[in-house]
Amino acid sequence: MLQALAAQDLRVATIAFRLLVGGVGICREQAPASGLLVHDALQYATSLRPTARALFGFEDGPAVLAVVPGSPADRAGIAAGDTIRAIDGAPVATVDRPEPDRRRPSFAVTADVEARLAQAFDKGAVTLTLARAGGPARIVRIKPVPACRSGVELQPASKRNAWSDGQSVVVTTAMLETTGSDDELAVVIGHEVAHNLLNHRARLDAAGIGKGLFSRIGPKAKQVRETEGEADYLGIYLVARAGYDPAAGAGFWSRYGAAHGDGFLADATHPGWRERVAKLASTASEIAAKRAAGAPLVPTPPIL
Ligand SMILES: [Zn+2]
Repeated sequence: MLQALAAQDLRVATIAFRLLVGGVGICREQAPASGLLVHDALQYATSLRPTARALFGFEDGPAVLAVVPGSPADRAGIAAGDTIRAIDGAPVATVDRPEPDRRRPSFAVTADVEARLAQAFDKGAVTLTLARAGGPARIVRIKPVPACRSGVELQPASKRNAWSDGQSVVVTTAMLETTGSDDELAVVIGHEVAHNLLNHRARLDAAGIGKGLFSRIGPKAKQVRETEGEADYLGIYLVARAGYDPAAGAGFWSRYGAAHGDGFLADATHPGWRERVAKLASTASEIAAKRAAGAPLVPTPPIL
């Protein structure tokens, strides 16, 4: 189960890495990407910790959960199971453990290391001190690559869902099971990443449109619908630039719509799935035409 979750984490991170790196040129805000995923024993439930330790080989402190293939972390020779001893010479193994109750799962250590890594990567190349299975420490240098700015994370949950909050994207494990291929998952994540890149949450907040029920009726619904159309459009461009199939958008939504009806798409804020499928298909044709003409894959007119 933990191994399966780690594999799903890597699947999401790999798609996110490709979407965010491929999007450079059509997004305003950037944040460097390394392709490094970290975790810590304390984030797992107490009952799972012995399994987690046996499986992932945590020593004292956080470790590498996975590395996106072809990413700077991969090229630096970092691999799953490496313990992170220091970032730019500053030790991380001494990070305060959550007190007083260490028995509850806590992401505090993981979040702290992620924040320190992000801060270090913002300045450029980073030196990591790593160790594996009690072996000697080794030092590697990672030079991150430019990427569009958005977090993307996987949440274990039985409800099919994906959402964005302006900073990050969350996709549930149930949603992963609904998307058949990486192309389709890229469509779902690309749509939510596009919401963040287009600052939709801030725009809706400024217009006094919350996430509650009352935003779903009347003139406010129209504004929400506009943001949905824009996210679909930019999302498919991100998908195409990342090397995934832009036609997967129409494919996924027509299958999903047929299987689940309008569901959460039935309210006035989301275009009906048939209309959505038609627009996604036309965006895919537009991209195919640009490719055939050797034109850059930039939205028309450029959104940014
Ligand atoms: Zn949306």
